[in-house]
Amino acid sequence: MGFVTDWGSWSDYRALENPTVILPKGGDMPCALFYPADYSIGMANLGFHYIYRALREQGVAVERFFASPIRYRSVEKDTLLERFPLILGSVSYEADVPLFAKWLAEGGINPSRKARGPSNRSPVIGAGGAVTYINPLMLSGICDFIVLGDGVAQARYLVETARRGLPREKALAALAENRSIFVPSIHEAGRHLLDISKGDISGDYGRGTWTTPRAAFGNTLLLELQRGCARGCRFCTLPSCFGPARVRGVSLVKRDMMESGLEGGFAQIGLVTPEAGDYKDLDELLEFAERHGKGVSFASLRADGITERMMRAVLRAGRHSLTIAPETGDDGLRERCGKRFTNSRVIEALKMASQIGAKNAKLYFMTGLPGETDENIVSISRLCASARNETGLRITAAVSPFVPKPRTPWAGEEFAGEEKLKRAHSLLSKTLRGVAGVKLQVASIKEACMEYAISWAGAPASDFIAEAALNGNPYRALKGMVDKREVGSEFARLGLGGFPQ
Ligand code: SF4
Repeated sequence: MGFVTDWGSWSDYRALENPTVILPKGGDMPCALFYPADYSIGMANLGFHYIYRALREQGVAVERFFASPIRYRSVEKDTLLERFPLILGSVSYEADVPLFAKWLAEGGINPSRKARGPSNRSPVIGAGGAVTYINPLMLSGICDFIVLGDGVAQARYLVETARRGLPREKALAALAENRSIFVPSIHEAGRHLLDISKGDISGDYGRGTWTTPRAAFGNTLLLELQRGCARGCRFCTLPSCFGPARVRGVSLVKRDMMESGLEGGFAQIGLVTPEAGDYKDLDELLEFAERHGKGVSFASLRADGITERMMRAVLRAGRHSLTIAPETGDDGLRERCGKRFTNSRVIEALKMASQIGAKNAKLYFMTGLPGETDENIVSISRLCASARNETGLRITAAVSPFVPKPRTPWAGEEFAGEEKLKRAHSLLSKTLRGVAGVKLQVASIKEACMEYAISWAGAPASDFIAEAALNGNPYRALKGMVDKREVGSEFARLGLGGFPQ
């Protein structure tokens, strides 16, 4: 396979980047760090920022690659991918796994770990990122090694091992000595005690490494408040896979803002936290941001935790929209999901937002939930219609299928499948037809099927994804490969715990 030569320069993008941390220049070990999406998406991912910084601070000459707009040249120096003996993928979502494989294949690198074999001529391929907390097996067909959980904690070990100059197989054996690095060629047999790294988050790493107006959220400084979640929604990976809430103290968060150039630089702050309302010093932080004229953006807010101050901070950031995830329009089903607030609380929060200037609200719902009835589906339409009538806000109902994920309390529940989901979506369209001011936005069922199949991929399915990247679309075959029991016993063999049912 030959490497591709991609034309184009990132110079316009580089010119707009504003670093918030001073990093050592140069480095002794060329390393390509790839995010399998457009630049705008990768640059809005805090984990990607962290790992780049960690590698640069270890003296690694790391350069960033994205799936678009320029695929095979680095952002830093327009260097071609072929110059890098070490390639790391930052994988946040299940759908990124085949994209990573495809990018390697089209870049002239065989994405199949087994096909690359022990050859010292191919680059070493590694990965880390959010999916490794959920099911690292999905990357085992592609990667020579996979960092489990918090990647920054393992960066020093990774770099020290790479610097020993060992032949490839010895280097991989040395990596496998770290319990948070999964080396498929070594861990494929026997029993092991791997450990998904989930450390303290009150160290130096708490903010984005750059700000840029070309990131998905605009010129925003990303600030981490919390990882994991103290609540227990049964469908959610955050409490069970990312662990109980690990919190970053407010003085550290304020320090991060001050060191990133409060007077210029960024336009607003983006709080990276599952539930901003759960952060005990949120008021103090919002007051600090307000004093410095910075707006705030939150990913999504819990209806039972929204305050007027939070809403004002969102408006100050120029956003006139509130995002809440009621998940369903039925109070009983919502309680079974683990969310203990009612439709009336949702309406109250929306009324408050509307009174202080919001114009729109986006409400996230799921279909295909365990035990869901037609009446439950119709309740989504009813809640949206009342929200519109009682608040005057323009409502977007964003509906996506429930995908049972490994290592969550609902891991053992069934995925509804194409037919049921299509039916649910058409019931929603029918019941919302003619309701003015409510827009229905449904996620792709095909993509949800893919997400389900990949999230449960064991070693054979991951091999298949790698091989299919060279010659076609793997999804139809992958659908038939889900074997929860097999993945559960692989987890037990690797010491990663079973699946709570
Ligand atoms: S859905 Fe939100 S509140 Fe519930 S566990 Fe997940 S992150 Fe926490």
